[in-house]
Amino acid sequence: MGKADLHTHTTASDGSFSPEELLIRAKKKGLQTLAITDHDSIKGYLAGKVIAKENGIELISGVEFTVSWEGREVHLLAYLFDEENEDLISLLYSNKKARKDRMKRIVTELRKNGVDIEYDEVMAESGRGMIGRPHAASVLVQKGYVRSVNEAFIRYLSSEKLGDVDAGYRPIEEVVRVVSEAGGVTSLAHPGPLYSDVDLKGLIATGIDGIECIHPSHSYPVQKKFSELAKANHLLMTGGSDFHGTGRSDYDPFFGIVTIGDQYVASMRRLSDRRKQNQ
Ligand code: AMP
Ligand code: FE
Ligand code: FE
Ligand code: ZN
Repeated sequence: MGKADLHTHTTASDGSFSPEELLIRAKKKGLQTLAITDHDSIKGYLAGKVIAKENGIELISGVEFTVSWEGREVHLLAYLFDEENEDLISLLYSNKKARKDRMKRIVTELRKNGVDIEYDEVMAESGRGMIGRPHAASVLVQKGYVRSVNEAFIRYLSSEKLGDVDAGYRPIEEVVRVVSEAGGVTSLAHPGPLYSDVDLKGLIATGIDGIECIHPSHSYPVQKKFSELAKANHLLMTGGSDFHGTGRSDYDPFFGIVTIGDQYVASMRRLSDRRKQNQ
């Protein structure tokens, strides 16, 4: 049975490794299937396709969409979609714009609180990748406001600290529909402690296809709870390490360790194939 990691990040969002570096590491870890799921970007996936082929790794299309649900930001993984689908590309474009606008507002908010930070510095930190709070966090570390990215999140960048910085992300229902029309499947990312049972019911009712049951933030009982929830609702089970690179997050040591069997990927493919045939 082959091992798959369906949740990884590269320099196309807030990861520290390029798609090439990530794929080489994936090969070393003995992964057979990989999904590059950058935040709101498929650039890392697109760049990785050829390298994956050369290294005999099955790279499936993936992205971690930020979506809006009941006024909250939710992470929704999407896989196996047609990457040339125009509606999907417009969604990504819309999120890119939303992220830039949001970062401008975050910077304004921080400056009001006496933090000397410029939007252009955060932009430079993100390089050619999708901008996000981890890049602002790195700037705060470099400027000596905090000692670590984690501290930056706690003291400055958590949703509670920032208050209501509505980014204007697309509603979950719309993203679910677009991914499905693009022949792809969706999965609720790292639900862990984020949602109450009532929330989960509501989220499932939006039409998501799966739940990320396996994630480094899930203890075995949590993993079991979500696997049972997926089964009871006839949903796909997905899983991955949420690898961001070395020292980026607490999950990073789990790359190559937190994996999912490729029979789960086969189930995802069956649904995706059915959708593509019905188009
Ligand atoms: P954003 O994409 O701007 O919404 O930022 C959210 C991302 O920041 C998440 O996907 C994580 O990768 C990262 N993140 C969230 N909390 C922390 C934390 N405490 N320490 C480091 N990274 C974090
Ligand atoms: Fe991230
Ligand atoms: Fe996430
Ligand atoms: Zn992630």
